[in-house]
Amino acid sequence: MSMENTVVSPTQLDIDKVRQDFPILHQEVNGKPLVYLDNAATTQKPQVVIDALTYYYQRDNANIHRGIHTLAERATAAFEETRQAVHRFINSNEPEEIVFTKGTTDGINLVAATFGRANITEGDDIIISGMEHHSNIVPWQMLCEEKRANLKVIPVNDRGEIELEEYKKLLSERTKLVSVVYVSNSLGTINPVEEIIELAHENGAAVLLDGAQSTTYLDIDVQALNCDFYVFSGHKVFGPTGVGALYGKRRHLEKMPPYQGGGEMIRSVSFEKTTYNDIPYKFEAGTPNIADVVALKAAIEYINQVGKSAMRAHEEELLEYGHRRLSAVPNLRMIGTAEKKMNVISFVFEDIFHFDIGQMLDARGIAVRTGHHCTEPLMSRFGLEGTVRASFAIYNTKEEVDQLVEGLQRIVKMMGK
Ligand code: PLP
Repeated sequence: MSMENTVVSPTQLDIDKVRQDFPILHQEVNGKPLVYLDNAATTQKPQVVIDALTYYYQRDNANIHRGIHTLAERATAAFEETRQAVHRFINSNEPEEIVFTKGTTDGINLVAATFGRANITEGDDIIISGMEHHSNIVPWQMLCEEKRANLKVIPVNDRGEIELEEYKKLLSERTKLVSVVYVSNSLGTINPVEEIIELAHENGAAVLLDGAQSTTYLDIDVQALNCDFYVFSGHKVFGPTGVGALYGKRRHLEKMPPYQGGGEMIRSVSFEKTTYNDIPYKFEAGTPNIADVVALKAAIEYINQVGKSAMRAHEEELLEYGHRRLSAVPNLRMIGTAEKKMNVISFVFEDIFHFDIGQMLDARGIAVRTGHHCTEPLMSRFGLEGTVRASFAIYNTKEEVDQLVEGLQRIVKMMGK
């Protein structure tokens, strides 16, 4: 599929063309044109990604790495080309530093179960922030329980920003790992990760960045960031579900024990002793999710072709417009007003339950997410059970924001608020 005309200038998207690339958008839901504003949960897929999946199963499907026949060679080549694509996409030092996972959650669990188990001992501290997704809380909690280590939490201020001065107070020689989200899925806050990483390193701690929300729109350069680990999910970057990547510095990955035992992660097996494969294969036991890994490359190429600067400019324009328009809706209170934020607008109405709003918007064909967004502690911080969250992508338009606003205004009126 040609994408030649998708970009009309480095900073302006041809939005009609972009929308044509995503077949799912062209449907009615409950008798109304679909307005998909749930992109922080998952993004829709361009035709090139869907085609890559189909093409792989129609032409190349075979198990990888172990075959010498032509299909096995083609499948292996396509799989490894995605590793190269991810390596260039986030600028790792080498492709061997890219491990395929099921997604962000799997990547964090891998690091907790390997690096964590090998390096955290009784009395050590792991630091996370108050705005983490459950995926970046629970694995560390489990590890801390097992090792009798301490989980420390950086507080979040009323705007939904990390309190850096409090972070500095938490750091000490006991800190072994800092694991924070780059961009909050619930509030859209862009965290000052460069400073967080530098401060952690000054204290001898390693840093994991949860890149689930940052990888689509921000230029990611893991070498410049100097993080020790970076994780993201394919399905948030217009790619398939069930696939993601973990970046780890070679020196860490080499020292880490394997995650799971099985095929591909071994060099040789006897009943007496097994020796392990080199990185990254040491962490890729069993037949991986080959087709979705292959299609992830198509998603990365799509982003590269559209251009992150054009994507970001569009997302910034929508966010600014959305903030302005939604602020004028009676009784609407925004949650998360950080100075640096992207992509997400979370809000509540004092007397209308968020879930009801989600249902009533769905009746108008508008898809938003309601609830705690897998960040229950953050919701508690704001004294809430949940919010309504509208999150944007490159195919959303100002007209769709207008439809959201109009929908909310009608709901407010109907409920007599
Ligand atoms: N971290 C953040 C910030 C997220 O937004 C998400 C998904 O919503 C995750 C982690 C978990 O990602 P996944 O479910 O793809 O593993």
